[in-house]
Amino acid sequence: MSDRSLIFTYTISAILFILSIANLSKKETSRRGNLFAISGMIIAIIISILKSRINNIGYVITAIICGAIIGINISKKIDMTKMPQLIAILHSFVGLTAVLVGFNNYLLLIYNKIIFDKNTNIQLVEIFISIFIGSVTLIGSIIAFNKLSGFMKSKVLNIKYKNQIHIFLLSMSFILMIIFLKIHNIKLQILSLGLMFLISLMFGFHLIMSIGGADMPVVISMLNSYSGWAAASSGFMLTNDLLIITGALVGSSGAILSYLMCKGMNRSFLNVLLGGGKKIINENNDIIIDKNIPKYKNISIGNTVEILKSSNNVIIVPGYGLAVSQAQYPLSEIVKKLSSLNIKVRFAIHPVAGRLPGHMNVLLAEANIPYDLVLEMDEINKDFINTDTVLVIGANDTVNPSAQEDINSPISGMPILEVWKANNIIILKRSMNKGYSGINNPLFYKDNSYMLFGDAKNTINKILEIM
Ligand code: NDP
Repeated sequence: MSDRSLIFTYTISAILFILSIANLSKKETSRRGNLFAISGMIIAIIISILKSRINNIGYVITAIICGAIIGINISKKIDMTKMPQLIAILHSFVGLTAVLVGFNNYLLLIYNKIIFDKNTNIQLVEIFISIFIGSVTLIGSIIAFNKLSGFMKSKVLNIKYKNQIHIFLLSMSFILMIIFLKIHNIKLQILSLGLMFLISLMFGFHLIMSIGGADMPVVISMLNSYSGWAAASSGFMLTNDLLIITGALVGSSGAILSYLMCKGMNRSFLNVLLGGGKKIINENNDIIIDKNIPKYKNISIGNTVEILKSSNNVIIVPGYGLAVSQAQYPLSEIVKKLSSLNIKVRFAIHPVAGRLPGHMNVLLAEANIPYDLVLEMDEINKDFINTDTVLVIGANDTVNPSAQEDINSPISGMPILEVWKANNIIILKRSMNKGYSGINNPLFYKDNSYMLFGDAKNTINKILEIM
């Protein structure tokens, strides 16, 4: 394959990836975006194989078929609610690949008896950085996978001198890089590379352990960004322009998304990026319930229907529980019913509701709920005060007033849906259990709050029956 046709096909592939990202940013065009990405990737794989002039093509094809079978099987079985875990574990593969490519490239230099001098420094830096970013992504993604799957507590690891530890580990890695470049002794080079690998694992481990609770969405997009940079650094080593472009696209879009999420959650981007987390004073956020304060109030299905029917306007706040119970389908029937009674119904979407960005939008679109009824937090927050009834369905952290009322809360400062300003709030969940960030929710004890316990889908079906 000539260099010209290689550059041409790489450019086509890169354009398809850019078009894919542009189309994925809107609900209406997201399917097209996926098709662009798939086409770009197929072209990229074919061209990379042709370019490499691999002798044993059979191995590559077998690996692709096995990977495709595993991938298709997983994607068919995976629940929407488990997507973040899947994304996290897939990022760890990118990190692992960057580490393996890095070590392999160094071993190739030794195998080919390359004389190390100033000219090889660039290659050595590429190897060093690729292994560093790759191992941070690898271990960070494994920790994120465990936290999101519930195998590890999502609580923030708050050890003393965390910033100093980070600076120390980074400085050590830098010194090792100088040794790796300057001392052209294979044993010492292998030792510095191995030590840096261990240090970067410790760095990645501590970085992601230091973030948790409600900041986990940022971790996912941050790791997405890291995996992009890891891929780009592999691209430099393999002199594969397309891998550099794709890696940079993923890396920068992940970084922009992390920045936007931090902004949406009122967190300092740099602080979260460096694993600073949030200083937590009252980690358990335990509510001390005064004996004089009434406990939460239950409400029946019948009374819920009565309140809904007597309302002029209703706002529905969906959360993770809606996704778990798959309540979006009967919910769309309720919306139709209320609308037919001339009751204004709208949805309020928090940027981190559910377990992945845009989770609620996807669920509501699945149930054909019109887009114009679905409003973002900033668009609708001011309207709660004039709302008769709010239905909170399987949401918890995203409607927790502690974010505004308790400066010691782990979610203090995070913008939330101000549902308590409405006349009545009916909360559908199964128990008084906490949400993802593991903190209590004073909303449930407010005068105008009513708890409607049960699986969200069952409850909504029962409401629908007597409506
Ligand atoms: P939460 O996780 O805060 O709360 C969900 C609630 O749903 C729980 O309190 C649970 O209570 C209830 N629930 C679970 N199953 C059911 C069911 N079958 N029927 C009815 N209720 C159910 O959800 P939110 O959406 O409010 O907040 C999302 C949280 O997840 C935030 O802290 C966010 O930071 C975090 N996160 C978000 C990500 C994202 O990208 N969007 C990624 C990772 C984390 P009970 O058990 O009593 O039923």
